[in-house]
Amino acid sequence: MAEKQFKAESKRLLELMINSIYSQREVFLRELISNASDAIDKIYYKALTDDSIQFNPADYYIKIEADKDNRTLKVIDTGIGMTKEELESNLGVIAKSGSLSFKNENEMKDGHDIIGQFGVGFYAAFMVADAVTVITKAHGGDEAFKWESQGTDGYTIEPHEKAEAGTEIYIKLKENSEDEDYDQYLDEQRLQSIVKKYSDFIRYPIKMDVTKSKPKDDDSDEYVDYVEEETINSMVPIWKKNKSELTDEDYETFYKEQHFGHDKPLKHAHLQVDGTIRYNAILFIPETMPFDYYTQEYEKGLQLYSNGVLIMEKCADLLPDHFSFVKGMVDSEDLSLNISREMLQHDRQLQLIAKNINKKVKQQLEQLLKNDREKYETFYDSFGRQLKFGVYSDFGANKETLQDLLMFYSSTEKKLVTLDEYVSRMKDDQPYIYYAAGESRDRIEKLPQTELVADKGYEILYFTDEVDEFAITMMMNYKGKEFRSVSSGDLGIDLDEENQQADEAADANKALFDEMKSILSDKVKEVRVSKRLKSHPVCLTTDGDISLEMEKTLNMMPN
Ligand code: ADP
Ligand code: MG
Repeated sequence: MAEKQFKAESKRLLELMINSIYSQREVFLRELISNASDAIDKIYYKALTDDSIQFNPADYYIKIEADKDNRTLKVIDTGIGMTKEELESNLGVIAKSGSLSFKNENEMKDGHDIIGQFGVGFYAAFMVADAVTVITKAHGGDEAFKWESQGTDGYTIEPHEKAEAGTEIYIKLKENSEDEDYDQYLDEQRLQSIVKKYSDFIRYPIKMDVTKSKPKDDDSDEYVDYVEEETINSMVPIWKKNKSELTDEDYETFYKEQHFGHDKPLKHAHLQVDGTIRYNAILFIPETMPFDYYTQEYEKGLQLYSNGVLIMEKCADLLPDHFSFVKGMVDSEDLSLNISREMLQHDRQLQLIAKNINKKVKQQLEQLLKNDREKYETFYDSFGRQLKFGVYSDFGANKETLQDLLMFYSSTEKKLVTLDEYVSRMKDDQPYIYYAAGESRDRIEKLPQTELVADKGYEILYFTDEVDEFAITMMMNYKGKEFRSVSSGDLGIDLDEENQQADEAADANKALFDEMKSILSDKVKEVRVSKRLKSHPVCLTTDGDISLEMEKTLNMMPN
């Protein structure tokens, strides 16, 4: 029997977790139940879509067993189980998906809400266990295996006997200590309340043997104890519950439970639509950006359920690219379970749902902007760029949806402002919405080109993101007002006096300019007198419609 070591980072995290004083050790149960539920989802889906698999809904459940004599807690499921290879790859490395790309060491050292932030799942068991044993048999396989670990030392895997497919997890509880009473995790009532708190809406029955008492006989005062198996969760999925019964915390728990993110969602929307298409949906706007958000790896999509059964983890067709940060789920009775990815794309029901979701998300963001500016800015800080990409892509087709959600830093307000706010402040004689593009606010502030516009008392929007100018160019105008770069040749500002002075200066210094041009040679096209500079001696400009910043970006793009 070979001893295997955990991967290095797993080991470190395990140590931190086991040794940290984690305030809510009880969440280990939520993690194990959630895994059991995921495993049943997988087999349930397979059975429903594959006629060759015998299927009886009563066969799918989770069971919790407390053995006080041996101080062992068991979590049993009849899910899909694991092969030997799956045991290795799923339980040998923590957070293989990369959720463990933690930002800084200090966050880890506190051991502060590690589960919440990194979703270490299965390993949470070690917060309460001296040893964890997993006995599992994969569906359709004929061998079962036993995985065992006492924490950081590594784990062993060996063949084992198990009749049915599924997984059993044995938690050998730690001895009670000064900071924690581990016996509580053997107490029926305590276990029931933990399940109620975190796992009530799990769609499969979570069963437990519950001790009850009854009169010994019909007219006796004497009571006897007996044990009865009970289902302790209500099994109604959160999205089918009445909105008025749910608290913000319920939605946050669901968000975590479904692995939508390690942050707290900024906002949620619960849709219960009962029209021509019937569906329930819960949508979340996350607070922080997933680490891979602006990369090719990031996959957008909402969970798709057909009448309570998960049929797709990430249905991309439900979300437009500009709202790809939205997390959540859609459940519809009107969708077929067997629907294929290709068919989904052309499914009219789904298209209508997607359209409605686009509208809803827009509304949610507008509400956030209106009612909670600070939260909106947090959101914008993470996902604002995506909105701007959205304006730019599809030739501006999403302009109407997105334009009121954009924000840019303002020269006069010294904060992010919306285009609507800008336009409402425009002076009577101001012809354009002015912007200046540059690497940073500081750099833009020092741009000589801003002087003339600022001198007139006009507000300037600072474009520090490469996409800004592209998005605005695609938009063309906002509420009938055109955008104009402060570097543009035509600022729409009356320059008669400046023109005359410039002509005079040009004549008087012709020799100097010729000399400068000959020294700079083909590095510049022309050296001439500026009509816009106030206190700066010199500035660079471009001739065409493209600004210097845009030109830089374009030059950086691969051909
Ligand atoms: P996550 O649930 O986020 O994937 P976990 O650490 O909770 O992370 O679990 C790791 C993996 O181990 C799961 O993705 C799953 O493949 C496997 N696993 C854990 N528990 C079970 C179980 N009861 N049945 C089948 N597979 C399981
Ligand atoms: Mg899990």
